[in-house]
This record gives sequence, structure tokens and C-alpha cells, in this order.
Amino acid sequence: MRILLAEDDHFIGSAIQQAIKDASYALDWVKDGIAAEAAMTTHHYDLLLLDLGLPGRDGLKVLRHIRQADQALPVIIITARDATEERINGLDLGADDYMVKPFAINELLARMRAVIRRHQGIGNAVLGNGVLQLDTTTHEVTRESKSCTLSAREYSLLENLLIRPGTILSRSELEERIYGWNEEVESNAVEFLIHSLRKKIGSDAIINVRGVGWMVAKEN
Ligand code: CA
Repeated sequence: MRILLAEDDHFIGSAIQQAIKDASYALDWVKDGIAAEAAMTTHHYDLLLLDLGLPGRDGLKVLRHIRQADQALPVIIITARDATEERINGLDLGADDYMVKPFAINELLARMRAVIRRHQGIGNAVLGNGVLQLDTTTHEVTRESKSCTLSAREYSLLENLLIRPGTILSRSELEERIYGWNEEVESNAVEFLIHSLRKKIGSDAIINVRGVGWMVAKEN
């Protein structure tokens, strides 16, 4: 999962950045509305966290622009307590949810998970393909009633595969979803993660399609 955060407040932005990284999402952080729009033209995001009071171009304008371009990108807006009118406008413009500052980071993460699930048509917080079950709230993976915990990156990789069992993701697609802008990616990072994941969940759990990428089997 790759998240775009548009927030000009350094304190709030840093707190969100840390929490999102701890939750194993890749994150790009921009501090004004114009940079937010530019980021969306070059990267695919799974969710936008959008502060409404942004310099450059305010959040409502950014949101209107996204919806006019017919982008289905899930958006959670972040607003000040007294900005009821803005919140209503944001929801009417197509925001999926909102958070009122100050908020508990854990609630933000829970709402993000819910919005992403809804957007991807997944009703359950546990992803699975009949072989593996991945709990998106605890990050625990289970195979044949044996559970283990994954590192942040391992979790992120497996989550991306288990959202669409049977769909092959290439190395660059996986890198795009696992790593943010400022993170250096070693050329064999994805292979390394696949290797360590296979050690934990069984080598047959992740299928390599030579020259194309990786996938998990579809439930039969
Ligand atoms: Ca602001």
C-alpha cells in the first residue's frame, strides 16, 4: 500500500508519517496542494490523506480536481474542529471519510484500513486465499493453524499479493507499493523479501512467474 499525505503542519505530519511507517505502508509526504497534485500524476496511490488548509492549493480544490478527473482514489480529509462547513463540502465532493484534529493516530489507522477495504471490495479484515490468512489489523499470517509475525516490509509485500490472489505483480509494481520516495531500494530487495517470506510461510506459498513477477494462488 502506498499512501500520499498532504499536510503542511510539521508536527502533525511527522506523527502521521511515523505511525504510517510503523503500520507497514509506504508513504510520500507533500506539504502543499500543488505538490500533492504533481505526486498523483507520477505515482499510483492507494489512499490520500488530505489536510484541507494547505498552502498553494487548498485541499477542497485538490479534491475537486481528483474527482473531476474521475479518479476513484480513496480520500480521507483532515480538518480543524471548527470547520464543519469544510467537512460537509469535502464529503459532498467525494471524500470517503474525515478526521478532526486533534485525533488519535490509532483511529486514523483504523479508518484508513476500513476505507481501503471498502474501496477494494474486501469486507473482511483478514485477507486469504484458502492457504494463507493475513490479519490486516495484527499483521499476523497463518498457514495450517501455524501463525507467525512478519517484518513491516514482508507484511507489505504479502498484503499486496493477497489483495488480489491470482494477479501477478512485477518487481517494479511491488517496489512502487512497498517503498516511499526517500527510501533507497536495493536492486534485489524484492527477491530478498520473497526469500525471507517463503522461509516463514512455505516456499510454495508465493509463486514466481518467470520473467513476469510473483503471485499467490487463487482460492479454488
Ligand atoms: Ca494545514
